Amino acid sequence: MKFSAKNRQSSYECKVAALQKQLGIPADYAVQHNFALQAECSQPVPIGKDVMGREQKMSAAAASAWFDMQVAAAANGIELQAVSAFRSVDYQARIIQRKLDAGLCIEHILQVSAAPGYSEHHSGSALDITTPGFEPLQESFDRSPAFKWLTDWAGKYDFRLSYPQGNPHGVAYEPWHWCWHGN
Ligand SMILES: [Zn+2]
Repeated sequence: MKFSAKNRQSSYECKVAALQKQLGIPADYAVQHNFALQAECSQPVPIGKDVMGREQKMSAAAASAWFDMQVAAAANGIELQAVSAFRSVDYQARIIQRKLDAGLCIEHILQVSAAPGYSEHHSGSALDITTPGFEPLQESFDRSPAFKWLTDWAGKYDFRLSYPQGNPHGVAYEPWHWCWHGN
C-alpha cells in the first residue's frame, strides 16, 4: 500500500492530535484560530532565571537576540525581565489539565492558553516579558516604559508582538508576549 507524503502524519502531529483529544479540545481548533502547528525546540538553552526564580530556556538563536535586546534596553534605563520562555508540548498539556482539574471549562481555558502543539512557546522563540513595578502577564504592561521601548526597538532584534489588540487569531491581547522571528 502506498501513502502520499500529504497523508502521512508525522509522529509529532499524531502526538498533538492525541493530546488534544484527551483534553477535549475541538478538532477544528487550529483552523478556527488560524494557528499553524509549532515545532518543538529540540535543544533549548538556559537563559537564566525568570522573575519567579525558575530556570527558563530558549532556542540558542532567540536567546542570543534576547540577551542583546536586554543589554540595549538596560543602556536606555529599561529593565526587561523574562516571565516565561520555552514550554514543551507536554508541559502545555499539563497546564491545561491542571485548569480542567480546577473545574474550568475547555472553552475558557483556550481563551488564555494555547492548545498543546500551537503555543509559540514550543518553538523556543517566544518570550513573556515584564519589568519592575508591573504585575507579570497583565494588560497594564502596555503602560510601562518597557513596553514603549519594545514597541520602538524590539523589531531591531527581530522580536515582534504576536497578539496585538484585534489580532486575526482571536487570541486575547498579550502586550507581554514577544516572539523572535530572525534566522
Ligand atoms: Zn507567551
